[in-house]
Amino acid sequence: VALLEAGNFPRHKVCGEFISGEALHLLAELIPSDRLHLLRQAPSISRSRLFLDGKIVEVPVNPPAASVPRFDLDRALWEAAVTSGVEACEQTKVLSISGTGPFRCIMADRQVEARALVNATGRWSNLHKVQTGSSHWIGLKAHFREPIPSPTVDLYFFEGGYCGVQPTGVEGQGLINASAMVRADIASSFPAVLARHAALAERSARWEALFPPIATAPLVFGTPRPVRDGMMMVGDAAGFVDPFVGDGISLALRSGALAAASLAAFVSGEIPLTESLNRYADRYRRHLLPVFRTSSALRRLLALPGKVRIPLLTAFEYAPGLKRYLVSKTR
Ligand SMILES: Cc1cc2nc3c(=O)[nH]c(=O)nc-3n(C[C@H](O)[C@H](O)[C@H](O)COP(=O)(O)OP(=O)(O)OC[C@H]3O[C@@H](n4cnc5c(N)ncnc54)[C@H](O)[C@@H]3O)c2cc1C
Repeated sequence: VALLEAGNFPRHKVCGEFISGEALHLLAELIPSDRLHLLRQAPSISRSRLFLDGKIVEVPVNPPAASVPRFDLDRALWEAAVTSGVEACEQTKVLSISGTGPFRCIMADRQVEARALVNATGRWSNLHKVQTGSSHWIGLKAHFREPIPSPTVDLYFFEGGYCGVQPTGVEGQGLINASAMVRADIASSFPAVLARHAALAERSARWEALFPPIATAPLVFGTPRPVRDGMMMVGDAAGFVDPFVGDGISLALRSGALAAASLAAFVSGEIPLTESLNRYADRYRRHLLPVFRTSSALRRLLALPGKVRIPLLTAFEYAPGLKRYLVSKTR
């Protein structure tokens, strides 16, 4: 197996770093044993607080999530691939792909032939451009020090975006991640995001920045496509889920695992590639697609005018069964 990566590790990445509980077992199996402390020491998050329309609505997070900086998590996953015998090449951008099985991956200085391809190049890459349409959403992220962070994931919603705040890194060390998804015409810098919500502006006055904020664009939502041009698409390359549901990392890990399981019989010569692709598409639709449907419905709900949204939010606030149901549908 060859892993061709355009960048290199470690590096910061725009992400809320909320790892939903459903992915933690898989992650614990993947991460090398000398990096398992990243999971053991990570803050455990069992409550979410939604700051919206002047209300604070608490939602239980069950099973509890964890929060690990992508700087450490992605490097640990890279090391896991290397130790399991994968030929892992950093600074190796695939410029184009020809064929639909077998494939030829073309890089600046060489080419690689492959019997099967798993495309894990993220939300936006030269290998599968998506239509941006009129989307002007951007993502921003930074780490801060806060004297005593709340052990919750806090989502501050405002017109044209939201900012999520949660402890990350090592439990009790006062490190927090703040990450925002916002329309570029509403705010394009972190101070501008923090100023969009009164409670967030007040809270962040006590923060000390640990590195300059990083940004990414565009953020585009579409119908997930698990198979394209004979390739298995995994993670964001298959489909980008609304960040506020905090399931993108889990979907990336779980779709990767489904792709590997679906390819095994092809690699051992039992079935043709097309059959492996069909198996993967079918498993993806059954196990992962429902998360996208629920998160799109929630996105539409949040975009409703205040006079419709506020009564719905009030009903939601006093309906613990409904809260549990909706959270489970985003997993
Ligand atoms: C603002 C924001 C907040 C978020 N918050 C959360 C959260 O709290 N929890 C959560 O679970 N998810 C969150 N997400 C989503 C999460 O970050 C993604 O779902 C996840 O990173 C997807 O992983 P991936 O491996 O598919 O893609 P990526 O992590 O983007 O990895 C793709 C890799 O492909 C490489 N690549 C690209 N093109 C090429 C090429 N041509 N050749 C070789 N390599 C290439 C890139 O360098 C990159 O390393 C958030 C996203 C945003 C924007």
